Amino acid sequence: MKRLLVLAAAAVTAFAANAQTAFPGTKPITIVVPFSAGGPTDRVARDLAEAMRKPLGGVSILVDNAAGAGGTIGANKVAKATPDGHTVFLHHIGMATSPALYRKLPYSVENDFEFLGMVNEVPMTLIGRPTLPANNYKELSTWINANKGKINLGNAGLGAASHLCGLMFQNALGIDMTTVPYKGTAPAITDLIGGQIDLLCDQTTNTTSQIEGKKVKAFAVTTAKRLTTPALKDLPTLQESGLKGFDVSIWHGLYAPKGTPADVLAKLNTALKAALKDPEFIKKQEGLGAVVVTDKRVEPAEHKKFVLAEIAKWGPVIKAAGVYAD
Ligand code: ASP
Repeated sequence: MKRLLVLAAAAVTAFAANAQTAFPGTKPITIVVPFSAGGPTDRVARDLAEAMRKPLGGVSILVDNAAGAGGTIGANKVAKATPDGHTVFLHHIGMATSPALYRKLPYSVENDFEFLGMVNEVPMTLIGRPTLPANNYKELSTWINANKGKINLGNAGLGAASHLCGLMFQNALGIDMTTVPYKGTAPAITDLIGGQIDLLCDQTTNTTSQIEGKKVKAFAVTTAKRLTTPALKDLPTLQESGLKGFDVSIWHGLYAPKGTPADVLAKLNTALKAALKDPEFIKKQEGLGAVVVTDKRVEPAEHKKFVLAEIAKWGPVIKAAGVYAD
């Protein structure tokens, strides 16, 4: 009897080991995106899902938009998800700014996630509603000064890239604007086009086609250097427009819940690296002003090192700005 039990236990262990190495099986993998569908983070996730599908043996990769609270709802969902490789998380710089912005974050960036590697770096653009009576940054600056106290600036909530960029913009001008939070910048840009808000600072992955189609007015890029993307190359930087030192570019990284088995993490990292070398993925990202990461931060340990350095970098900036949520 005892021998039978030992054999049964061995069989269960072998089954569990097999189940572990069977990843990816037929069950779909879900990339959680902490912002609304149709926005810039969602866009990167959908392109990445397509590029990672083949290296993961053709398994289905779905996107789950767990939007709200500047990305912290999605992050918390992943922090508490089953760590079996079927849930991964695409997030941007908000992963590093939220710990300073939220006094009670319900998860730990450092301890509740496995770091899978960095994905890309994305510049941002300052855009305005199409009816705004300004056609370049100089005219915008005159309009802002004449409309102090009446300007609405959209963002995707406290912790969003649009929030960070808007905060830095207001600080650089020394002017407070009324911020209007959305669940992502997809709905924010819809309202901008409709004239419900005046300004938005958003990733080029969301704004390039709107700028190209002249649906919004584009005033500047937020990076230190001008961009080379055809639709954006004529936009001045905010630095050359007079905002000394203004340089905001955001990045995306891929994560899994803490405790995801090491062999599964290795497979996900290999698939991510293959996706980052996929010419189709690179072309799509470059067409939207994003730069695919090729340096050592595609390795999990370097990715984690980078994010922890970003937390240390942004913490004091955010504290100095006196912005926080409970
Ligand atoms: N662009 C948004 C942000 O401000 C996120 C999104 O909607 O993807 O972070």
